[in-house]
This record gives sequence, structure tokens and C-alpha cells, in this order.
Amino acid sequence: MSLGLRTEGTNTKLLVMDLHIHSCLSPCADLTMVPSMICNANLDVFSVTDHNSAWNVAVFQRRCSSKLFIPGIEIHTAEDVHVLGYFPNVHDALKVSSIVEGLMDKFEYDPERFGYQVILDDEENFSGLVEYYLGFPTKVTLDRAVELIHSHGGIAVLAHVDRKFGAMYQLGLIPDVTNIVEVRNKETWLSLKKKGYVVLTSSDAHTPDEVGVRKSYLEVLRGEELSTEKVIRKVSAGHVRTLWEI
Ligand SMILES: [Zn+2]
Ligand SMILES: [Zn+2]
Repeated sequence: MSLGLRTEGTNTKLLVMDLHIHSCLSPCADLTMVPSMICNANLDVFSVTDHNSAWNVAVFQRRCSSKLFIPGIEIHTAEDVHVLGYFPNVHDALKVSSIVEGLMDKFEYDPERFGYQVILDDEENFSGLVEYYLGFPTKVTLDRAVELIHSHGGIAVLAHVDRKFGAMYQLGLIPDVTNIVEVRNKETWLSLKKKGYVVLTSSDAHTPDEVGVRKSYLEVLRGEELSTEKVIRKVSAGHVRTLWEI
């Protein structure tokens, strides 16, 4: 695997990562958010995190083999808070996705108005549509969402805490469910870093030109062999830097 590594010290280097990207499965994302448009982005590590579903993670893993791919999901909880889950493998992401699917109201919606939710096959062809709206809150509480992610070997991250559908914005505080947070603003980064949180910055890209516009960096050893599992454990252990720490 050839990664576009950034030189750091003699023994360490930084991998460029964007852990919050929506595919054409998310109703609010562009239909061009498919592997061939995203795989060549200037990133070493990336994750696809669609709203309340992980149906498209397998095709990204298959077709983006030049990058470290982290199967993900963005769960919209009953409290109207977005939580990201990152998993060591596609299988666990899909298991969580199907549990979340069972805990959603299946409202019919108008895709012309609110956006198509496209499932891709292995060849990146449009193979199906999700016909209920993925953009609504689920019946999964925040506690349950984090527990679900953890019990499937994943790590849970409170998404964009300082904007709409983020924990601080919706609840006025950071609930004590995980110590990993994604932020938008430098001020939030500063205050949460001081409190001991692991802080990430990611793009939340919904169009190809947004991929990688905000990113984080993963600290690794030179020559270190990496896997999806290892990357998420490193994130969890805080071996990350935001764009303000480079
Ligand atoms: Zn979100
Ligand atoms: Zn998002």
C-alpha cells in the first residue's frame, strides 16, 4: 500500500485522514459521491459515514484499496444528536446499520425534493434506492448508540459538537458517553483539548470538492504495519492531531 505520508521526526510520520464523508446513500449528498470520485483524494485514511446506514461501505472498501478505509456510520439519535461510529470491518458496520434500520420510522418521502438515497453494487452501478428517509432521527438514544458501536468493536465520536445536530449545540453540554469529539471551530478544539478530549476535525463532505477540506492527522511509526483496527485504536488512544496542531 503506498500512502502519501508526511514526514515528521525520524521515527514517526503523519497520515492525512478525513473521517467524515457522505456517499450517494445520504439524501443530502451529491449523487457523484461514489468511490471513483473519492478514492483518489489526497488522503491516506478515510471513512464513509452515511446517515443511519452503512449500505455503501463494502463497495468503498473494495474499490479504494490504495487507502486505509474505515467503515463508518453517522447515527442520528433520538435526542437529535449525530454520533459517528468507526468499525474494524465492514461486517460489524453492517450489523450496527441493520439494528439502526430496525429502530427507524420508515416514512415515505419524495426523493425529488429531499434527495435520492442510492445503494451501489460492487461495480459502482446504482443498484437500489432506500425508500424511507434516512435523514430523520432514529429511536436509538445517545447512550444506546454509543453502546451499540462499542459492542461491535467500534469507536464512537460525537460529531460536529459545536454546530447543529452536535451534542453541545443540541444539549448544551458534552454527555459523558465517549471522550472522542469532532469539532468545527478552533475555540472548541482549544477548550475540549484542555479538558482531555481526543479531538478530530473532518470535512463532513457531501460533494466531491469538499472531501479533505478539513482533516486530521494520525501519528504512526515509520515502517509500522497498519490495519483498519489499528487505526481506530490509535484514534481512540489520542494519537491524532487536528489541523491546528501541524
Ligand atoms: Zn452530522
Ligand atoms: Zn455528516
